[in-house]
Amino acid sequence: MPRKSKCPCRHPNCPALIEVGQLYCPEHLPLHPEVQRPSAESRGYGYKWRKVSKAYLRKHPLCVKCLQEGHFVTATVVDHIVPHRGKPELMWNENNYQALCKPCHDRKTLTKDISPEYTY
Ligand SMILES: [Zn+2]
Ligand SMILES: [Zn+2]
Repeated sequence: MPRKSKCPCRHPNCPALIEVGQLYCPEHLPLHPEVQRPSAESRGYGYKWRKVSKAYLRKHPLCVKCLQEGHFVTATVVDHIVPHRGKPELMWNENNYQALCKPCHDRKTLTKDISPEYTY
């Protein structure tokens, strides 16, 4: 009977056999973070957020803070007006978003970080 085929771990000189489709044995996998899916994905945050924020920036291409001062600056960051702290109703609520350019976002984050509860 043909057994389910295995392939060797790709780590140099590692004799371990692993399931086809995997690259490293469990022992060596942590040494190769590049083959592991981004952890943001496993938190269920990264992929969806990238999609949502991209769509939002398409609709709101200009930094709202700069716009208030009469400057037209391309926004690159979607910021949560009220920090979501993991709450989905804030996280995924478009009314809680604002489009910011990087400098404006960094300035906001900087002031926010002074508040001890903003740990995200
Ligand atoms: Zn190995
Ligand atoms: Zn700005």
